[in-house]
Order: sequence, then C-alpha cells, then structure tokens
Amino acid sequence: MLQLVIHGGAGSLEGKTAEAQNIHQSLCRIWEETFELLKKKTAEEAVIHGIRLLEDDPVFNAGTGSKLQADGEVRMSAALMDGVKNRFSGVINVQNIRFPIEAAALLSKEKNKVLSADQATEFCRKHGFDEHDPVTPARLQEYEQKCSGIHGTVGIVALDKKGSIIAGTSTGGIGHEIPGRVSDSPTVAGTYASSKAGVSCTGVGEQITQQAAAAKIVTRVEDGMSLHEAVSKTLMESNNFNYSFGLISLDANGQIEVGKTAALGEVYYAYHNGEGIETFYN
Ligand code: ASP
Repeated sequence: MLQLVIHGGAGSLEGKTAEAQNIHQSLCRIWEETFELLKKKTAEEAVIHGIRLLEDDPVFNAGTGSKLQADGEVRMSAALMDGVKNRFSGVINVQNIRFPIEAAALLSKEKNKVLSADQATEFCRKHGFDEHDPVTPARLQEYEQKCSGIHGTVGIVALDKKGSIIAGTSTGGIGHEIPGRVSDSPTVAGTYASSKAGVSCTGVGEQITQQAAAAKIVTRVEDGMSLHEAVSKTLMESNNFNYSFGLISLDANGQIEVGKTAALGEVYYAYHNGEGIETFYN
C-alpha cells in the first residue's frame, strides 16, 4: 500500500485568510505531485522530491523563505530517516544552499551522517551545491519588524509499495533565535522512523526535543501500541507541560495520524482521506 502525508509547519493564522489559501493550494499541489512520484518510485525519492518542492515554495519556512536568526542570517536544518534501514542523516544550520534535504540525503551515504554549521556548508560546496540566497523580501521584512512568529518547518512521511517508511523534515527555525540554535528537526526528536511507523514534527523545537516526540511515538508503536494510541499518549504527556507542537505520522498499514498539543493553534498538513485531499483549510 502507498501512503503519503505532508506538513507545512505549525502556525497561527491570525486572520491571514489569503495566506491560508496559498498554503492550502501549495500543500494540495505538492501532495499530488509527490504522490504521483511515489506510485513510480521509492518512498525516499518521493520524500526528497516533495521536500524540495516545499523548500522552494517561499510560503513555507524552509529553504527559500526560511526565517532569519537574531543576527540576520538564515541557517537551515534538515533530516531524513529511513525506517527499514534504521538510517538517520541530517544537516544543522547549513547556509546558502537551495535544498537542505538534498544535503541530508547525501549524508545518508556517508559514514558520518550529521554535519553542522560551516562544515556542513563546506561539505555541500565540495559536492557541487550552488550558492543560493534563501532570503525573501517578506522574511526580511518580518525580521526587521520583529514579527516572524515562532513557528514554521516542512515535513513528509511516506510508505512505498515495498513497505519502506521514510520521514523527512526541513526548517528555517523559529526566527530571531540565538545564532546557531539547534532545532528538533535535524534530531530524532523531530524526525524518526522504523519499519513500523514514521513521524515528522513541527512546533517549538525545544519542547519537541524535551519530549523526544518522534522517537517516542515510533518506539511505542514498535512495542505494540497502535499509532493512534502512541500519538495520543505522547501528545497528552506534552499537554501536561503545556507544550506547543504538532506532528504527522503513518504506520506500516498505511494508517495516518495527524495531531497537535492543546496549546498549538494549528498544523498545516495534507493527506488523502479517501475522498479528496484534506488540509487544515477547506
Ligand atoms: N520545530 C521548528 C524549530 O523549533 C520550528 C517549527 O516547526 O515550527 O526550529
């Protein structure tokens, strides 16, 4: 069975109806294009392709359109996890490349699988990644007006016909963070998968990390809990701390669970509910 769920981050609409419509349209378009690829190729290829599309769409806080850190620089992070191969790779605070997920994918073939900061950027240059300025006028304005919010990120979890589960996440961070801050996204708290389930998180990275959210949900499914129970229990525990985050997930049977803690406004997600593509916004 094929299955695909994508997210465009946690966020608060705050009356921005036009932006909500844009996010909805982008998520539907990207879900469809990615699902077409998943029919022909592997979950890994579909996740990388889909995240590239999300990274290139300036409406999302990843790749082009990433938020700026406190010193006015964009630093991006991304991770990829192959559930069957038990292989996690990622880049942390990489700069001036177009597709951070491509760097994570490249690192999955290396002995050392997670690189950070200047060395991550150097690794990308050495492997032919062109210089790319991810700053958009809208993000620059947000930065200057100190109104970049606290959320963003994109992610995809896919199940292919061979039963491979891949989770991927890419983020520009939370905006105005201390330069060099590490988010949950390029860690197993934000991106994790096994042969039984896969999860990608979005929301306040520190809180996701403190809960080890993605890894915990996958471990619970490994230990026999249903995905529904594993997600509910993990979110309930996080509600006890009033944490603010959301997630997308799927299991080896193709069951999808999308969830969020009570404190979070909404998660921008997309999946096919059997009748059509469901997103946060209809
Ligand atoms: N989790 C991301 C971070 O903390 C932001 C988000 O997903 O909203 O950097």
